[in-house]
Amino acid sequence: MRYISTRGEAPALGFEDVLLTGLATDGGLYVPESLPHFSLEEIRSWRGLPYSELAFKVMYPFVEDAIPADDFRKMLDETYSGFAHQSVAPLVQLDSNEWVMELFRGPTLAFKDFALQLLGRLLDYVLEKRKQHVVIMGATSGDTGSAAIEGCRRCEHVDIFILHPYQRVSEVQRRQMTTVQGDNIHNIAVKGNFDDCQRMVKESFGDQSFLGGKTQLAAVNSINWARIMAQIVYYFQASLALGGPDRSMAFSVPTGNFGDIFAGYLAKKMGLPISQLVIATNRNDILHRFMSGNRYEQQQLEHTLSPSMDIMVSSNFERLLFDLHGRDGAAVKDLLENAAKGPVSIEDYRWKAARKLFDSDAVDDKTTCDTIREIYEQNEYLLDPHTAIGVRAARNCRRDATVPMITLGTAHPAKFPDAIVESGLSVKPQLPPHMADLFEREERYTVLENDLAEVQGFLSKHWKNA
Ligand SMILES: *Cc1c(COP(=O)(O)O)cnc(C)c1O
Repeated sequence: MRYISTRGEAPALGFEDVLLTGLATDGGLYVPESLPHFSLEEIRSWRGLPYSELAFKVMYPFVEDAIPADDFRKMLDETYSGFAHQSVAPLVQLDSNEWVMELFRGPTLAFKDFALQLLGRLLDYVLEKRKQHVVIMGATSGDTGSAAIEGCRRCEHVDIFILHPYQRVSEVQRRQMTTVQGDNIHNIAVKGNFDDCQRMVKESFGDQSFLGGKTQLAAVNSINWARIMAQIVYYFQASLALGGPDRSMAFSVPTGNFGDIFAGYLAKKMGLPISQLVIATNRNDILHRFMSGNRYEQQQLEHTLSPSMDIMVSSNFERLLFDLHGRDGAAVKDLLENAAKGPVSIEDYRWKAARKLFDSDAVDDKTTCDTIREIYEQNEYLLDPHTAIGVRAARNCRRDATVPMITLGTAHPAKFPDAIVESGLSVKPQLPPHMADLFEREERYTVLENDLAEVQGFLSKHWKNA
């Protein structure tokens, strides 16, 4: 399998290089040159498989040139046995034909574990083979940092440095990052805000000379193809559990960067019968505005009760635009260069094609809270605010009540207690047993000034072979 850039100018790469690369050299994102396609008969034969075995079936075509089957199976077994539920991604029923797929049974209680637990193992495998080392550098306002740290804690050939804004992340989120023990894990609290952290990461990627040429930076943000790949699997899992592929399914996906929902679109292209895909956003609704009015336009960032979806631009959307433009990289390059300067639209027939593929809805904080309360009153089941947005959008956009509607449950409610309080419920979401002692665990982090040279100096001194 070869991978090509959405902007058409960077060289095609194999899986190993795509794994280690962030953006393509032309500024684009890597996508598979062609997708595997599974027949209904083949998908049907996967009924009842354990999650890790299903993951093997769905993902192996993407990695087969780089990893022998047995090694990949072993990696998947290890990855998904670390989840605190036998089925890995259990379904919970909300109403007669309505479901939540709980994707938060992994070590950091959010769906990002599905991809990042695997990504850490993939990186270490490839780096071991190549006798290379990388430094992962990332900025986080919460969720991604902890999932990335957990994913890399056992890596021999990776050091990870995660920058978070000092005293500006919630205590649960900070502790999820800073209590993970490991010589290769480095938490830096920057005396600045999230944008300062992100700017430092960006500048460091642009000029890596501070590492003295002895190692290189790698990224684990959601533009990494391997993350998307791992997220395709649970669409198959949900469908098979509810009578697929002999009936089609509808999915509602809380999204910001278009990563998770893009994985659903790929599942459909790979042969899974999916009759509806709902894009669910919060007030940062660039995707919903595009889908409803063919205008792709950045607006001011809003801080919401669903912070993991607070974005201004939706980076993975570029991968869909590539397909909508008949995989014409030059057209995508033009469009996105213009989009950086102001609002853009695409040709009407292309936009109509997008509307055939997706429905969308934007849900504000008040409606998010109303939904948390409503579902609790109906079912004594607590939703986290991101999942609540998915459930609301599912109910608003549903087309056919005979088709099972599955909302992806992206986080555990105990991660976002503010939204539960705001919804007026007096229940307090409890951390699950494997996290119950989070507030007693020892924390480790270094506070640094909001200064690029100081942060880079810290990195260059503290990676493994420095
Ligand atoms: C990251 C995240 C999302 C958004 O994921 P996308 O990659 O933007 O699709 C939604 N909910 C939670 C809890 C998250 O952590």
